[in-house]
Amino acid sequence: MIQLEDIANVLDGVVHPEIEKSVIELNLVQNLSYQPNEETSEAGTIKFRLVFHTDDPMAEQLKENCRAALKRAFPKAESKVVVLIDKQKATGHKKNEVGRGELGATELAEVKQIIAVASGKGGVGKSTVAVNLAVTLARQGYKVGLLDADVYGPSVPKMTATEGLVPEMAQLPPSEKYPEGKNLIVPIEKYGVKWISIGYFVTPEQALIWRGPMACGALKQLALEVMWGELDYLLIDLPPGTGDIHITMIQDIPVTGAIIVTTPQQIALADVEKGINMFQNQDVNKPILGVVENMSWFTPAELPDNKYYIFGKEGGKKTAEKYNLPLLAQIPIVMSVMEGGDDGRPVCINPKAEGGKIVAEAFEQLASKIG
Ligand code: ADP
Repeated sequence: MIQLEDIANVLDGVVHPEIEKSVIELNLVQNLSYQPNEETSEAGTIKFRLVFHTDDPMAEQLKENCRAALKRAFPKAESKVVVLIDKQKATGHKKNEVGRGELGATELAEVKQIIAVASGKGGVGKSTVAVNLAVTLARQGYKVGLLDADVYGPSVPKMTATEGLVPEMAQLPPSEKYPEGKNLIVPIEKYGVKWISIGYFVTPEQALIWRGPMACGALKQLALEVMWGELDYLLIDLPPGTGDIHITMIQDIPVTGAIIVTTPQQIALADVEKGINMFQNQDVNKPILGVVENMSWFTPAELPDNKYYIFGKEGGKKTAEKYNLPLLAQIPIVMSVMEGGDDGRPVCINPKAEGGKIVAEAFEQLASKIG
């Protein structure tokens, strides 16, 4: 059986070429885990994050060096390494502690990771990615919730065929924090995921007239007054763009990381850069887990070896490289993705749909990179 200590010893031999200290000494390795495969304990998966506090040009090379060293030491094991840039520590900027400290202390206490799914621009497939990622993580055995905070265009009810359902309320018994007790919203469960959407409570017309602060208040309430229970992941499908609502949400809710979704088009990419800057901005300062490039290419069923780059080639990949962020997945344009969204049956629970397998695999890859 491979022990975490053995893995750490191997990583202690991987030295940063400029600083001349190992990744362990530099405290870059976080969330180290080892999951043995059922058949043999030597053939499992090693996972960890390499968290840098600056845009270190050596990041990718160090990641590869770690993987190579682990391969030599444990030839049967697979290693999954995610590179993250966390500028908070580098700038000495104080972490925004309002979320877990005040707003989320009770309600989100049992949620391990809160991941915001964002895009600079609407229509790039942000909700599609959020919903399919949630379903994929649930299929992998994680406890998952999704908060659809896309106040101006909530799509979760439609994408999960739960339109028209009204979540029930549950009463929490009186406690020190809530001497009168408290009413909590019970999320709707389907496909193994707990769903809450602003769309269960208001019509799109009602939401459209909300001004920024009203929308922010409603969203915070929605995130915090839900009986999420114990979750491995709470995904938040943010509204598109980079406005006040976003900043308030990610500041006040203890988001642990963000995924940015884009298409390869130039026009989408310009907005993605704004999205990246928003998370990396000193006042927000939350780690970005990486970029998902959606609608990367189109492959006609009759020409399975051809890829047509309808929206340009690898724009998301290049933007990720520019910002030294991991490219988490490239998802092709597949009719069954759209049909799954329209029918309320996410393609990932229906991989037999035409083209579904390739998309399901892309989401499995995405899930493994954030896990
Ligand atoms: P956003 O949340 O960014 O506004 P949506 O997730 O609502 O975008 O997606 C916009 C439209 O594009 C939807 O009709 C969705 O089904 C479709 N779509 C998204 N990703 C894909 C894809 N990879 N292949 C085909 N259609 C897609």
